[in-house]
Amino acid sequence: MEISGKKTVVVGLGKTGISTAVFLKKRGAQVMVSDSSKDNNLDAAAKKLQAIGVDVELGTHSSSFFQNAELIILSPGVPHTIEPVTRAAEQGAVITGEVELASRFIKEPIVAVTGTNGKTTTTTLIGNMLDESGLKVFVGGNIGKPLIDYVDSEIRAEVVVAEISSFQLDTIMRFRPRVSVLLNITEDHLDRYPGFDAYVRSKARIFENQKGNDISVFNASDQSVLRVSGNIKCCKLPFFKDSESQEHEECARITNDRIIFKLNKTVNFLIGTATGQASEGGADFLLRSSEMHLPGRHNMENIAAATLAAFAAGGNPSGIRRALKKFRGLPHRIELVAEINGVKYYDDSKATTVDSVIKALEVFHEPVILIMGGRNKGINFSLLREAVRTHAKKLILLGEAKEEIRSALGDIVETASAGTMEDAAGLAHEAAASGDTVLLSPACTSFDMFRSYAHRGEIFRKAVEALKRSI
Ligand code: ADP
Repeated sequence: MEISGKKTVVVGLGKTGISTAVFLKKRGAQVMVSDSSKDNNLDAAAKKLQAIGVDVELGTHSSSFFQNAELIILSPGVPHTIEPVTRAAEQGAVITGEVELASRFIKEPIVAVTGTNGKTTTTTLIGNMLDESGLKVFVGGNIGKPLIDYVDSEIRAEVVVAEISSFQLDTIMRFRPRVSVLLNITEDHLDRYPGFDAYVRSKARIFENQKGNDISVFNASDQSVLRVSGNIKCCKLPFFKDSESQEHEECARITNDRIIFKLNKTVNFLIGTATGQASEGGADFLLRSSEMHLPGRHNMENIAAATLAAFAAGGNPSGIRRALKKFRGLPHRIELVAEINGVKYYDDSKATTVDSVIKALEVFHEPVILIMGGRNKGINFSLLREAVRTHAKKLILLGEAKEEIRSALGDIVETASAGTMEDAAGLAHEAAASGDTVLLSPACTSFDMFRSYAHRGEIFRKAVEALKRSI
């Protein structure tokens, strides 16, 4: 990608936008950054960039900024459909994103992970499995460090593991991971896509440019994934839930209490050789549920996907087992925060989709007092009816979407309304009997009341801890 001397506009002044602007400037581009936010917190970053000769505009996307732009790089959260971008595209500008840009400069094999839910968990696990297998790994993308930071860093990895969101996939052109992982596709971001099909198509772009010996790991028990998997033009490594499993030469099969990996046939592994690496004593590689310390069937899917990808990228059985033994899950994903009078309190603040809330409810066999709500991002809450009817004893509602959730679910379960997270924790405590579970799994984004899902989770933890002290 020719950069030197080009008029480039970076849209979005977040962590990725800053890194991208610095990267482009270093390579001799004329760089401008445009962010529509008026947030004062952006001023420091703007000054830093201005000091190295980057033009910055805040609070607007002015047409003069975008005029005659040759290259536009969108930050991960910025839709490619905003007006100044579509107009610049009509005038001939190339529109792409940081993932595409970075991937043009990364020589090492990339393992790219996408899906509606489980990306961060699976990406982290793959990184840990490869690390425990003795490989040098860089883990980044939508999680932690932007990929573009890797290009100019001192670190040299043998494998780059990247979490990739659908918004990032929307702007790829030739992005070709050596290993792709597609975990699942369920309803999400319907406020950003014209419909579910468009969202599915966006996710399927993860394997669009893969061919030959590249490897695609995908969930063959997910109907939407299965539908698009026909377009995969490279080696396939599917994972199945037992009931739907078909014979496939190389795959992972999830049963009630184990995952069985059948490998060693045709996959051209990136580092090391398949034979002897992906089997133990010539037998299929087996992981028992007693070796996994993450709750729920959905995490067995994440582990199946991570293990296949780790093998494909050169991981070995002992490294994979060691990583699994140590990994206790990430914060704010069905995380136990306290136990008060026989009631367990779980923080699942990261659950902003229907499917993640269903998966969290399915983990529990005891009655659940469910705290939900926040800002709706296009979710149809009625899709939760069956899971709520089966598992929830009471719903505590919070935030902007309160009434919408009440009208979708209020006839099947008792509801209460909370003004703050502290209120919500207090109401849940009053409703819970010993042996019950209190679960914060909001099915909404946090931005109506909190800075982020992590902030919402922290406030929940603090509220529960305060409750514990007061008893
Ligand atoms: P992402 O990065 O895709 O948002 P996370 O690993 O951060 O995924 O998990 C987000 C939420 O989804 C959490 O509530 C988690 O419990 C839930 N989750 C994780 N893996 C899955 C899965 N495979 N299917 C459904 N829900 C999942």
